[in-house]
Amino acid sequence: MKYEPMSGREFPRFSGIKTFFRLPHVPVDADYEIGIAGVPFDGGLSYRPGARFAPTAVRDVSSLGRGYNWPRGTHIWSTRKVADVGDSPTVPIDLKMSHEKIEKFFTGMFMGGKKVIAVGGDHSVTLPILRAAHKKHGKLSLIHFDAHMDTYPAAWGVDYHHGTFARHAVEEGLIDPKNSIQIGLRGPLVDDNDLKFPKEHGLRSVTVDDIRIPGLEKFLTQLPEFNTLPTYITFDVDCLDPVYAPGTGTPVVGGLTTYETQRILRALKIKNLVGGDVVEVSPPFDQAELTSLVAVDVMFEYLCLM
Ligand code: MN
Ligand code: MN
Repeated sequence: MKYEPMSGREFPRFSGIKTFFRLPHVPVDADYEIGIAGVPFDGGLSYRPGARFAPTAVRDVSSLGRGYNWPRGTHIWSTRKVADVGDSPTVPIDLKMSHEKIEKFFTGMFMGGKKVIAVGGDHSVTLPILRAAHKKHGKLSLIHFDAHMDTYPAAWGVDYHHGTFARHAVEEGLIDPKNSIQIGLRGPLVDDNDLKFPKEHGLRSVTVDDIRIPGLEKFLTQLPEFNTLPTYITFDVDCLDPVYAPGTGTPVVGGLTTYETQRILRALKIKNLVGGDVVEVSPPFDQAELTSLVAVDVMFEYLCLM
């Protein structure tokens, strides 16, 4: 089995059956090293729907992906066996059943010794993936890009939605908050009680002001190194300004630029990145596929970090 994308110089990039990066689509138990999977579920959303369509849209735009990372000087396809393993099973009208199926799907990948890249789905899907990663790797460091803290309380009496995954990950002991970081936070909150959870658990919260006021270059030198625990990155596209990522469920103005998140991803020093996801891409609200394109670039940086 050759784990290489279809060549764009042999077959035009708009041709062929769409897979992530035009890679081979293989069974989930094949002998790849990094598996890219879709998680088409958006039953945890609180506002704009549509993230269930992200895996399809991201596969389409990922035809533009290429293997050589110019700033890093690394070529991903020649160093790692990467494949599209299809989509995790989900149940569109049942969050609990979906989370159980997602956890089972990713547990199979982690237990098989694979690294994982997931394309959501709303941000609730990160929780079952973290549960699966924890079963194999134990407590994790989490690098969390987001406008929102996602440590919020229940809404409408429901404790599991796209704004609670990070709180559950701390409460279930899946991640070590003191070895984790949130990046890109901003925007109005319901009240200042929302600020308590990260503070009480020693979770470092980085706002856009924390990056912009001292300046990006200075911030990059202050990033912690992730070399004690296995690490997982979750990238909620609403960490970006809606100008860069309009197709998302709960947009917040005053966000990061795509260049800033690229630079942060490239500056991260991670000893063992076991998985990563891109979530909250909502194709029905996207413009000119801008948001799906962001997801492709984040996945490219994940592959380089792995
Ligand atoms: Mn989120
Ligand atoms: Mn968010």
